[in-house]
Amino acid sequence: MSLNVHSIPIFNDNYVFILQSEKDVALVDPGDFLSVNRAIIQLSLKPNFIFNTHHHWDHTDGNLSFKNAYDLKIYSSKYDMVRIPGVDIGLVDGQKIYFGDTFCEILFLPGHTLGHIAFYFPQESCLFSGDTLFSLGCGRLFEGTYIQMYQSLKRIQKLPPKTQIYCTHEYTQRNAAFACDVDSKNLQLKEYVSKVENLRKMDKPTIPTLLQTELECNPFLRCHSKDIQDYFQLTDCSEMDVFKQLRDLRNQY
Ligand code: ZN
Ligand code: FE
Repeated sequence: MSLNVHSIPIFNDNYVFILQSEKDVALVDPGDFLSVNRAIIQLSLKPNFIFNTHHHWDHTDGNLSFKNAYDLKIYSSKYDMVRIPGVDIGLVDGQKIYFGDTFCEILFLPGHTLGHIAFYFPQESCLFSGDTLFSLGCGRLFEGTYIQMYQSLKRIQKLPPKTQIYCTHEYTQRNAAFACDVDSKNLQLKEYVSKVENLRKMDKPTIPTLLQTELECNPFLRCHSKDIQDYFQLTDCSEMDVFKQLRDLRNQY
């Protein structure tokens, strides 16, 4: 594998990912300078890229300090260039970024915010999904519409099931209770949740999560499920209706 990923926990429940390829090093969503820089120094790395998934401060607050400290270029969605500090290059859907001996592709995934993007490494089967897809959950709709978020999740859903999902937040355990409520007959979910509980007991990350697992267990990717439709007592509804119900209920949960 030509991509090495280091997960650095910051704040209460964020991860910053340090990506290391043959000769390039990227920081994904460096929301903080000091804690991430400490990790970089320990690993003896020199970052030359920052990849921002969206404009929220917990993903971008380290940008300018890193730009001062290292010779690096900041990449974000073209949409977010005006509201993310220090951006050099604006990206659009389908664009490729060459990274060491590998590359990633940009997926434009609006919903959580209007400019949200994800970084997909097809050769390594890794997706840096920001706050779009979480394990057993999905991002809140701060700016986008239900339809945008639903379609963004659909695009992730179509990636190969072996894709490792690197989302930015350790929300898995918190999402688990909700998922078990709305999808109580799902045995694979129960199995996964007990694995998650064990990992968290040992203070270990649940991220990355496998897309296959999310397809089986994440209610937001299971809007077609009869059991979830029954939970909401919906008949003759579209998957989009189910998604809307799930998202609304999760907000109040
Ligand atoms: Zn966010
Ligand atoms: Fe966030």
